[in-house]
Amino acid sequence: MAGALAPGRGTAGAVSRGGLLLGLLLPTHCTVCGAPRAGFGGGGVCDACWDALPTIEPAAACPTCALPGDGSRCAGCRREAPPVAAACALGLYAGRLKRLVGAFKFAGHDVLAPAAARRLAGRLRQAGPVVAEAVVPVPSTRSRNRERGYDPGAELGRALAAELRLPCRRLLARTRDGAPQSSLPAARRRANVAGVFRASPGARGKRLLLVDDVLTTGATAFEAARTLLAAGASRVDLAVLARTPEPGEEPAESA
Ligand SMILES: [Zn+2]
Ligand SMILES: [Zn+2]
Repeated sequence: MAGALAPGRGTAGAVSRGGLLLGLLLPTHCTVCGAPRAGFGGGGVCDACWDALPTIEPAAACPTCALPGDGSRCAGCRREAPPVAAACALGLYAGRLKRLVGAFKFAGHDVLAPAAARRLAGRLRQAGPVVAEAVVPVPSTRSRNRERGYDPGAELGRALAAELRLPCRRLLARTRDGAPQSSLPAARRRANVAGVFRASPGARGKRLLLVDDVLTTGATAFEAARTLLAAGASRVDLAVLARTPEPGEEPAESA
């Protein structure tokens, strides 16, 4: 997670706190750009914002971590193969998608889940046939969910499962919260999440699709995948709303 949307009571970029609060009660303005309600594309986000998301074409992304590139495995995945068989991201964690994810995670916009899941499902189908038998959300920390009053990962998992006509199975639980990954440098994130999940025996023999909101170093999602595989899952794929670009590669935002 990037600093701009660091933990705490989040704001959604250009949207003022007042506008955001009003939007929660009565969505009259786009959650992402703040424009007055006109041509809404679902989830309180206007069509213009949905159309301007910095999407990632599956054909031009690393197949196992969704990093934009030339479509072959990125250097990191060649160095160490991730535990997931395939990874797909709706877009880059930048520009309007960064603001959308911020609203989704921090401002209580659980209404965003179905609209975002519909687009993520489309992207997944574009990447190839969905072979998973069930969708499994990566559980967020309990303290954060208490603070928010809802679990955004579970909302997204349920919505994506509905889109894909698959069951949503909460096969993972947290054994401890650990320090928030966003507070740690990349090198320490893997150690921070080692052993942080426990998988239910229901994972055995199953092809599973893990779902998370943002993929940064992959430490959390890959630990979740390793936990499911250790519990006997036959295959784990990963779908995320947003993939962080390589440092320094965040595209300038249009408008
Ligand atoms: Zn908008
Ligand atoms: Zn990769």
